[in-house]
Amino acid sequence: MLTFNANSRLNKDAVIVFLTEESAKSKKWNFKNLSLSKDILQVISAKQFLANEGEQFPLVRGKQVCLLVGLGKRSDVTKTSLRTITSQAVLSPFLKKLKSIDIVAHEQNEATIIGIIEGILIGGYRWEKYIAKKSAVLSKSICILSVSKKIYIDTIASCAGVNLTRDLVNDNADVVNSNTIEKTIRHIVSGKKNISLKILTEKELKKKGLNLLLAVNKGSKYPPKLIIVNYRGSSKKGDYTAIVGKGVTFDTGGLNLKPTGYIETMRLDMGGAGAVIGTLKNTISLKIKKNILFVCGVVENAIGPNAYKPGDVVKSYDGKTVEVANTDAEGRLVLADALSYLVKNYKPARIIDLATLTGACVVALGYDYSGLVSSDDNFAKKVLAAANDTDDRAWQLPSYNGLKDHLKSQYADIKNTGLPKGAAGTMSAGEFLRQFVGKTKWAHLDIAGTAFVAGPSRMYFGYGATGAGVRLLTDLLKNKL
Ligand SMILES: [Zn+2]
Repeated sequence: MLTFNANSRLNKDAVIVFLTEESAKSKKWNFKNLSLSKDILQVISAKQFLANEGEQFPLVRGKQVCLLVGLGKRSDVTKTSLRTITSQAVLSPFLKKLKSIDIVAHEQNEATIIGIIEGILIGGYRWEKYIAKKSAVLSKSICILSVSKKIYIDTIASCAGVNLTRDLVNDNADVVNSNTIEKTIRHIVSGKKNISLKILTEKELKKKGLNLLLAVNKGSKYPPKLIIVNYRGSSKKGDYTAIVGKGVTFDTGGLNLKPTGYIETMRLDMGGAGAVIGTLKNTISLKIKKNILFVCGVVENAIGPNAYKPGDVVKSYDGKTVEVANTDAEGRLVLADALSYLVKNYKPARIIDLATLTGACVVALGYDYSGLVSSDDNFAKKVLAAANDTDDRAWQLPSYNGLKDHLKSQYADIKNTGLPKGAAGTMSAGEFLRQFVGKTKWAHLDIAGTAFVAGPSRMYFGYGATGAGVRLLTDLLKNKL
């Protein structure tokens, strides 16, 4: 639990003191507890602590532990290093048994405080629902000294959305199915006056002809849904931003079945919809003054006698016929119908979609950058600025007319796979989506690499979902549009 306290005395079980190499050398600290300053001075003078990046030195004073934490050179402190070092500090074995911790930041500016809070709340998050012995840092009472209450409250609120997304992505696919997702959204929006909710059920999806979305779900025992939340935060009419998430609650690959080694983490395939839900939560708690459509296309790509088949030709909502060249390229089918449905019926000013779409994105960019594809450079710039400011990173890949040639089909107007295997699959998946947004300004974030940590911890993320996209979208909506 993170509490706000502008003037706490240094009298908790533990104190974490962040120091850059420069601040350690200058020996100037504004601690209210002078005897502590003296002890720190002694350690530094004896060169026992140099404030190297990630260095920890425990100063034991009776029952209290003062943990000195190094950040390295001031100019080398990055958004990532600050968050990573903070998470390592609050998870430090030196503080394991201590319940209440005060934190003394090395600087008092907004970016530093946000970084420290995110280091604690995002870096301290662990998925432990099914583990008897919990380790999470979030059960400790942590207080950062001398910061503005507004930054504190807003950052804590925004981390709540990130961690909600992680809870949804991390849980079993049969726990977080299409019905659960609907229930979660209903719960978030219930009683809110400026929000309306529309859910297209299987019957309505059939009637309206969202056949691509329906095809993907044919092998599932759960009903498909297109969930649309209409949030009116601005008195200005129109000017809607639509945020669309791929919500494949489990992706077996369909009849193009994924092999062992690739299928185990496929609960992550609703990471896009998860990010939409986390951002919805943040938008409400931060009272963002924009008009926004939050959209989740929710299906399961399962196998069984009803499953759709490789080679099927399906008529999309916008009228184009699509050859299903591969049933594992299902996310773009779900999104294509969701996008064209939005464009036709809601006419948003701009659309951004998020999807754990292609393994190719991991090949191109690895695990720390989401792939960005966009039809509008100005919009893409705003998305990249939000990515940079929030450390929810993204990197833009090219989008151009020539890519369309690779989507030509012998049997239909277009097919759902593009360039030959191994060649820029993220770009051809993006190109497929672009064929369904018309002239609407559009950006697409491929979060296949960033949404989930399947191996050892990465940056400040423990195992499992990272909530990729939530911080980026929250900042984009709040500050960049
Ligand atoms: Zn797939």
